[in-house]
Amino acid sequence: MLLLDGKATAAAIRAELKEEVAAGLAAAGRAPGLAVILVGEDPASQVYVRNKERGCEEAGIRSEAFRLPADTTQEALEVLIDELNGRADIDGILLQLPLPKGLNSQRCLERISPKKDVDGFHPENMGRLALGLPGFRPCTPAGVMTLLERYDLSPSGKKAVVVGRSNIVGKPLALMLGAPGKYANATVTVCHSGTPNLAEECRQADFLFVAAGRPCLVTSDMVKPGAVVVDVGIHRTDEGLVGDCKYDDISCIASAMTPVPGGVGPMTIAQLLINTVISWKGRTGIAG
Ligand code: NDP
Repeated sequence: MLLLDGKATAAAIRAELKEEVAAGLAAAGRAPGLAVILVGEDPASQVYVRNKERGCEEAGIRSEAFRLPADTTQEALEVLIDELNGRADIDGILLQLPLPKGLNSQRCLERISPKKDVDGFHPENMGRLALGLPGFRPCTPAGVMTLLERYDLSPSGKKAVVVGRSNIVGKPLALMLGAPGKYANATVTVCHSGTPNLAEECRQADFLFVAAGRPCLVTSDMVKPGAVVVDVGIHRTDEGLVGDCKYDDISCIASAMTPVPGGVGPMTIAQLLINTVISWKGRTGIAG
C-alpha cells in the first residue's frame, strides 16, 4: 500500500514556497503577510494557530497573530478585520474557528475581503468554486487535491465518494473532485447522515474521502479493494489520535491511504501557505 504522506509532502511544499518567496522578494518589495486571528482560549485552536505560525516561518511568510480575549465583542472583531482588510502588507486574513459563544462567525467571515480570504470561506469564493471560476479554495479540500496531484493519483473518470457535506470540507471537496481537470473529473457521490446505506455507497468508490467527524466510522468491509482512501477526520482518544477510518484494517486492502496524524492535517496548513503566497504575488504584481 502506498502511504499518502501529508507530512513529507507539506514539508516539500514549504521548502518550495520558501524558494519562491526568496526569488520574488526584491521585486515585491516585501515578504508575504498573513494575519491570524484567534479569539478565546480553545486549546485545539491554540495548537492549530501555533502550527500555522510555524509553517509561515518555514515558508518565509511573515505571520502576525492577534490573540483576543474570549469576551471580545462582535464589533471589536469586525473593526480588527476592517483594519486588516485595509493594510497593504497583509495578503491573507485567517479567522481561527470556532469562535466563542456570542460571536457570529458567518458575519465575520463575510467581513473578510474576498481578496484576502486565504481560507476560502467567503461566500464569494465558495460561489466562484461552484462556478468553476478562479478564487481562493478552502484549505482542507484543496490540500487533499494537492496531495492527490503530488502522488499522481488521478480520480478522472473514476467513481469518488465523499462522506460528509460540511461547508468547510465535504461540500467544497465534492465540487473540486467533480470539476473538469486532470486531477479531478470524477463522478462524485456525496453521503451524509441521511444516506440510507453508507457501506454500500462507500464500496462503490475508487476514491473514498471521509470527512464525517465520527471516529473509525469507515471499516474495511466498506472499502473496495484497491481503493484510494483519504481520511480527513481527526479525533483525540485514549488510544491517541484516530481518524474517521479504521486505518489498520483498511490499509491492508486499499491501494493508497492517508495516515492520521500526518495525512490531511499538514496538507491543510500547506495549502494555507500556498494561498497566501498566491495572494502576495497577485497583490504585489509579481504573478507571472
Ligand atoms: P462536520 O461535523 O461539520 O460535518 C460532518 C459531515 O459528516 C456532515 O455532513 C454529516 O452529515 C456527515 N456525517 C456525520 N455522521 C455521519 C454518518 N454516520 N454517516 C454519514 N455521514 C455522516 O465536520 P467537518 O466537515 O468540519 O469535519 C469532519 C472531520 O474532519 C472532523 O473529524 C474534523 O475534525 C476533521 N477536520 C480535519 C481537518 C484537518 O485539517 N485535518 C480540517 C477540518 C476538519 P449531516 O450533514 O447530515 O449532519
